[in-house]
Amino acid sequence: MKTIIDTHNHCCEFSADSSQPLKERLEEAQRLGLRGLVMTDHFDKWEDPDIASSEFHVLDIYPEDGEWVFNISDYIERIRVEQENLAKAHSSLELYKGIELGYRPYLVPAFREVSTFYKDDLDLLIGSVHNLSPFGYPKLSKLYAKGKKEAYTLYLEALMKMVEDMPFINVLGHFDYISRYNTYDDKKLRYVDFADHLDRLFKLIIERDIALEINTATQLVKNPSGQPIGLTDEAILRRYKDLGGSLICLASDAHHEGRVGQMFDQNKAQLENLGFDKLCHFEKGQIAY
Ligand SMILES: [Zn+2]
Ligand SMILES: [Zn+2]
Repeated sequence: MKTIIDTHNHCCEFSADSSQPLKERLEEAQRLGLRGLVMTDHFDKWEDPDIASSEFHVLDIYPEDGEWVFNISDYIERIRVEQENLAKAHSSLELYKGIELGYRPYLVPAFREVSTFYKDDLDLLIGSVHNLSPFGYPKLSKLYAKGKKEAYTLYLEALMKMVEDMPFINVLGHFDYISRYNTYDDKKLRYVDFADHLDRLFKLIIERDIALEINTATQLVKNPSGQPIGLTDEAILRRYKDLGGSLICLASDAHHEGRVGQMFDQNKAQLENLGFDKLCHFEKGQIAY
């Protein structure tokens, strides 16, 4: 794990669905021998597009009830303090500042403002789709009723729309998120079933130097049989590489104790077998290894 930076992490101070404090996450990462962590807390503001259209400035953002946002300046400062503490303790753990932007079309101007205003402070921006209803698709629970083919296809289409709307993101977050919360017998996303959509999505991110995130939280989700989904379909990774893709981030998407760095050794071995010789992260928006 010495060479791996976990590029997707949440802590309970800034993400409503996380239970682990930042300090404990850092201690756990050091115990495991990880090279580094990128904190990427949730930034998903405003369920209601009418409210979202009102004027605001990123500096003024404080969460209202139930909103999955935080004051970005406070967040940056909090991580900076921990970076200082790590340096004082002569820790080799690298700590970076990132954000997971939850895509909704009406939030794109706000997200663009975040990306430009904090370009010297934030290292890595993840673009993620957690919810399809803000842009005219059914809620995930209803979408699943349409069956795997249609649900997964619509999700991949939403990702493409996000990448086109938000070319300023650095990382495509959990491209296989749609496989997490359904009840299908076989949840795994496979290249053979969605070849055309995956090709188009990969071309879009490759053209924009957006990295592909391998999200191990999805891999641990179980099928009804009790078997976990497991490692990413090799055919997906091979195709990404054949299309010219080389930027890969390895990410636990840890929200709770015991999750950081999960499945990293197996994933690293799989990627190396397929000829990916390095993992990437970003520093102030620039690709780094
Ligand atoms: Zn996410
Ligand atoms: Zn996340």
